[in-house]
This record gives sequence, C-alpha cells and structure tokens, in this order.
Amino acid sequence: MSAPLEPVPTDWTRGLAVVAHPDDLEYGAASAIARWTDEGREFGYLLACRGEAGIDTLPPAECGPLREAEQRAAAAEVGVSVVEFLDGHADGLIEYGIPLRRDIAAAIRRHRPELVVTGNFNETWPGGGRNMADHVVVGRACLDAVRDAANRWLFPEVGEPWSGVRWVAVAGSPLPTHGIAIDDHLDRGIASLAAHRAYLAALGGDLSDPGPFLRAQAEAAAALLPGARLATAFELIEV
Ligand SMILES: [Zn+2]
Repeated sequence: MSAPLEPVPTDWTRGLAVVAHPDDLEYGAASAIARWTDEGREFGYLLACRGEAGIDTLPPAECGPLREAEQRAAAAEVGVSVVEFLDGHADGLIEYGIPLRRDIAAAIRRHRPELVVTGNFNETWPGGGRNMADHVVVGRACLDAVRDAANRWLFPEVGEPWSGVRWVAVAGSPLPTHGIAIDDHLDRGIASLAAHRAYLAALGGDLSDPGPFLRAQAEAAAALLPGARLATAFELIEV
C-alpha cells in the first residue's frame, strides 16, 4: 500500500458481503461493517461454505456447525443478523462455475444491495503471501454474479433481476484504492474476530490473537487516509 486512499462512498443504504469462509470478513472488513450498521445501513452476510475443513483436529461434520455458530456470533458483534450459508460448495474445494454464480446471484437479487463486499481474490496478499483457491474462486464468482443478477435472461428461476449494485469493495486486497475511518469501531471488529473462538484456538500463531494483527492493519491503512487514526482499506470496483 502506498498511494493515498479515496473515501469509500457513503450514498447507499444496503450492503451484502459475499465471502468463502467463516472468518474471512473478520480479518479485514468487520470494523467497517460495524460502522456501517451503526450508521443505520442494512448489511447481510453470505458465506459460500461453513469452513468445515478449517480445523485440523475436528472432522467436518462437527466443525461445520461449530464454525457456523461462531460466524453468527461474529456477525452479531458488528450489528449483522442476517447470515446465510450456501450448500453444495465444499470448504477447500469450492469450484468456480455456474452453480456458484447462480447461488450468489440469487442472494444479490434477494438482498438488493448497492454495495457488495467480497474478500481478496488476487493471487497474493498485501504482505506478499499467496492467496488460496477458495478466496480466488468466490471473489471472481461474486464479481460475475453482480453482473448476472442484473441480467433478466440469466437464472430467471432465482428471482427478479437486480441492477442496483454500484460498487464491489474488495477487502484485504493488495491493490487498495479506498478507505474508511474506523477510529471508533476497531474494538468491535476485534470482538468480531475473537468470536471465532474454537477456530482461533486451533489456528495458533500471530493470526490467532485478533488485537495486534487488526490494529496494525488499521494503522497501516489510516496512514493513507487523511484524517483517520484507524482505517479499513478496500479495492473499490465500480460496476
Ligand atoms: Zn478464508
């Protein structure tokens, strides 16, 4: 990150986040979502799977329900009560394809968002590490599903077209363009990540302590956003 960030647009009222796994939003976007819901905006979450293959010591049949519950608790910390999980897309093995695009387009038609948040689908992370397949697949499918949702000839079985999405905001992108101050909302973003209790306990390492990681990320973004002490950065794609 180096170029100054533009402010994230504020002239919208409904948002939808579409990510691959439980915890994806909490590692980048949750503090901003806390601010948006505080401002009275509606926000829903759509998860492509339940993260059932995410804990080495827990078989998927036990892990899925546990992580679903942790995701709902994480969402509640930032004022989000509508949390949906897709079926038929296996954690770790999510495939780009028509079924995934249809499922995401259906959610976009139901929620009718103006702003869609998705996770980083670039090949790398801001720090340089390689991204993983599920994130790349879901982010790309989300971007395509925004277009699909607006086309009445595609997926007519999943609702009326919705062409009102104006922006897709990519959290955790190595190419951020926009930012939002979260001076008063980082604490709730941290609480949101901390709600993934069993997952973090199993994860270990630097990423398992929500506070220092999210604070450092917020300070780095704020350095590029005039007037902010803490910020969340997004790559904003105009639709
Ligand atoms: Zn993930």
